[in-house]
Amino acid sequence: SDRLKGKTALVTAAGQGMGNAAVRAFAREGARVIATDRDGALLDPLGALDGVTIQVLDVLDDAAVVDAVERIGAVDILFNCAGTVHQGTILECSTADWDFSFDLNVRSMFVLTKAMLPKMIAAGGGVILNMASALGANKAAPNRLAYAASKAAVAGFTRALAVDHVKQNIRCNCVCPGTVDTPSLGDRINAFADPAQARRNFIDRQPMGRLATAEEIAETFVFLVSNESSFMTGQAVFVDGGMTL
Ligand code: NAD
Repeated sequence: SDRLKGKTALVTAAGQGMGNAAVRAFAREGARVIATDRDGALLDPLGALDGVTIQVLDVLDDAAVVDAVERIGAVDILFNCAGTVHQGTILECSTADWDFSFDLNVRSMFVLTKAMLPKMIAAGGGVILNMASALGANKAAPNRLAYAASKAAVAGFTRALAVDHVKQNIRCNCVCPGTVDTPSLGDRINAFADPAQARRNFIDRQPMGRLATAEEIAETFVFLVSNESSFMTGQAVFVDGGMTL
């Protein structure tokens, strides 16, 4: 329970889902965590946890991101978790949908990382973890055009960042989860005419025959931000229940 003792972590999109599970797992392992989300009400319960500070932050607001980094200062761990799933083929994806997917899934990581990285380097190094997906460069699924393209970009961003800053003691990896039972997945399921069938379809694409929990994916986050993964950088780590097999 002290695998992250003495470390400070900044997590985006911590209000619910995997970002929330990450905050809880990092705090459990002794880290001091700054949990951020655009929705302050979702963050409130985290404020009661030992070592957790909550802060409203919309990662699409460049000025707010830069200001938050100035106030927080260097962290040992940066987890860029925020992202959105656009459902649809290219014919159902407007230019605005495409831009929003890339703004939230990729550009927000660029802005926050660009602001924080000099501070991490000055402090002697640190670890960056980016949220990608099992869908991306390696695997496609129907109706995920903008999503897969943007998550593939996350993997490229991660690798490029890793090679540029490896000599400065910065490690950077991304996680590629399969289908995880989070609130937004529930929303996507409930948007179908037959939600029970939609849930079965999501489960059917998981060879393990079940969805992941956010908590079990968070155990991989702990590994990737701790010293246990000290020789790993630039990798896309699949935690997908066999989805890409
Ligand atoms: P979620 O989608 O249920 O919750 C997302 C959180 O992000 C919410 O608390 C929301 O308030 C916050 N958020 C949205 N826009 C924001 C913004 N502009 N600034 C700050 N916060 C914002 O959680 P999830 O399903 O765990 O998804 C988290 C990440 O994991 C996303 O990047 C998603 O693409 C990725 N992912 C999810 C799955 C899955 O099956 N759920 C699989 C692979 C990857």
